[in-house]
Amino acid sequence: IVPMRLQKFLARAGVASRRGSENLMTAERVTVNGRVVTELGSKVDPLVDEVAVDGKVVRLADGPVTLMLHKPAGFVTTMSDPQGRPTVAELVPTEACPGLFPVGRLDADTTGLLLFSTDGELGNGLLHPKRHVVKRYLACVEGRPTERELEALRHGIELDDGLALPADARLLEGGAAMRAGRVLDVPPAVPPRSSREYADACRGRAAKRSFVRICLREGRKRQVKRMLGAIGHPVVALHRDSFGPLELGELPRGSWRELSADEVAALH
Ligand code: URA
Repeated sequence: IVPMRLQKFLARAGVASRRGSENLMTAERVTVNGRVVTELGSKVDPLVDEVAVDGKVVRLADGPVTLMLHKPAGFVTTMSDPQGRPTVAELVPTEACPGLFPVGRLDADTTGLLLFSTDGELGNGLLHPKRHVVKRYLACVEGRPTERELEALRHGIELDDGLALPADARLLEGGAAMRAGRVLDVPPAVPPRSSREYADACRGRAAKRSFVRICLREGRKRQVKRMLGAIGHPVVALHRDSFGPLELGELPRGSWRELSADEVAALH
């Protein structure tokens, strides 16, 4: 690493955006080797200089970084989109972690656990078709699948790109279905004009839709949607809550967190 501008260093270390870092500097909150630096053109050598913000020493991440994002709906899984749509790159610390890429993908309207890493070997290993990493999803579907229909998924059904491996699939009932409804946050089909209408819409919807938990050991394009569509129950909303040994847990929507050393080890 060569000397770089202080604001770039701060942004790369994940302190703030470059602009935000400039503001910290002009607010006299940044020191280099104990001296306040406000001049925006100042350079630092990350290997020798000690940079601090509000007295706390800041360092660049060394070694690979792997993190999970709770992806919200409305973001495309790519680091840059020529069409200018919102991408997941806006939600993760790309400045602090150059080379960060998504491990696999979720559709734009799918929410939940999306893994990112700067470690290409780890990422490619996890995506290898023979690795069969288990991914767990909650789906809200049209209608109510019968045991017989779900059995077809457990058996392995034919898709247009070949046979799908047997998947664990079960209908959620009672409390589990209610919790799934909260996670998936399925909007009413018609915008309600009153709370009464909203309640009616929810009741109507409840009669026509149901919740399914499904675990896949492969990750083809739009696979969950195609599998549930194939048994006659199109997906209304989809959420992934685990990826291999990783659980999304209580991570808020739109937030990311770095994996612990144990979690990274479990991925290898
Ligand atoms: N299966 C899908 O259909 N969509 C996703 O986003 C993930 C799995």
